[in-house]
Amino acid sequence: MIIAIPRETVPGERRVALVTESVKRLVGKKHEVVVESGAGLGAECSDEELRAAGARIESSAAAVYGAADVLLKVQPPTPEEVSLLKSGSVLVSLAYPLANPKLARAIAGRQVTLLAMDMVPRTTLAQMMDVLSSQATIAGYRAVLLAAEALPKLFPMLMTAAGTIPPAKVLVLGAGVAGLQAIATARRLGAVVEAYDVRKVVKEQVESLGARFVNIEIEDAAGSGGYAKELSEEAKKKQAEALAVHVAKSDAVITTAQVPGRRAPLLLPADMVRRMKSGSVVVDIAAEQGGNCELTRPGERYRTEFGVTVIGEKNLPSQLAVHASAMYSRNLEKLLAHVTDKDGALKLDASDEIVKGMLITRGGDIIHPAVADVALKEVA
Ligand code: NAD
Repeated sequence: MIIAIPRETVPGERRVALVTESVKRLVGKKHEVVVESGAGLGAECSDEELRAAGARIESSAAAVYGAADVLLKVQPPTPEEVSLLKSGSVLVSLAYPLANPKLARAIAGRQVTLLAMDMVPRTTLAQMMDVLSSQATIAGYRAVLLAAEALPKLFPMLMTAAGTIPPAKVLVLGAGVAGLQAIATARRLGAVVEAYDVRKVVKEQVESLGARFVNIEIEDAAGSGGYAKELSEEAKKKQAEALAVHVAKSDAVITTAQVPGRRAPLLLPADMVRRMKSGSVVVDIAAEQGGNCELTRPGERYRTEFGVTVIGEKNLPSQLAVHASAMYSRNLEKLLAHVTDKDGALKLDASDEIVKGMLITRGGDIIHPAVADVALKEVA
């Protein structure tokens, strides 16, 4: 099987779908790996290293796309990249097909089979292929470092001859994968951490990381698959009132809250941010999904006129491209192992739970029922 890795072309994307170690292992399993020259540079994998690991380096994107039996990518393909896809090949990539059914349709139109990495089911069996989790882990860690860097204060408590410095107070909103990593990172830096989530089941996990869980007496919004449901209007109001007190006394607020298929919930309205001390920081990991903070400017970092720095930088995993790529690459390797037979040939069994969840297009059609449904609604 020829596995092809193009260079990512979305501005600011430094990750690569396969790192050198994975290339070595896949070549060891008798696959041929073709890589576009420079594809690994952002993740510190040079052409020379990749070649030494057994990859063939091609200088043009067209040659890489044209060689692929299976094309592995990070970012959803751009229109130019879609036009390069080879008929009959398989694309494995982030694709967000429920939010972007047009892309799924364009890929189907190229007679390309799409496996969307963001649709891997959140089950125990699929955990090793779960790029949403691996990349959210990186984002949670990075968000805390951004907060620590922007905050004009120390995170840890220090008792020195020059006086005692109190620890920074960090509030994490949303205690899913990114939020739990943010809590752990802020604790390692010595901050006092509080966290809140609408799913009460995470209370124990929050506490086991040494943070305090903020209890708000509203409905439990645990939905299916470990995700949250949207709150009722009344619950949203009650939540906002209770959170305002905790936000006002925090030096840094890290927001990570998301609800699948919807705009990120608004947790920090402008007036709540206004009540924070001058010098405080908000890092909004949900910036790309519309943001949890009303003042977030997606893709930007700025200081408000009342002195709070709001950080809405996008694609935090790309800022730590070496390990983000290593984890993404490992997730892809596990997926490839799951969908190939002992001779290394691709076998996409649509009745397999993992394949069923992420198989979006095949034979020129959108075959994933939920994606087909949104695609149809979009046309209507
Ligand atoms: P996510 O990115 O969709 O959401 C992040 C967090 O925001 C969630 O914890 C959610 O409850 C929370 N949230 C939503 N609305 C909120 C609001 N109004 N206020 C406060 N918080 C709000 O979720 P995720 O981090 O990708 O995953 C969530 C959970 O799914 C995990 O904690 C885990 O339990 C489960 N999961 C399971 C597996 C597995 O079994 N393989 C893998 C990944 C995740």
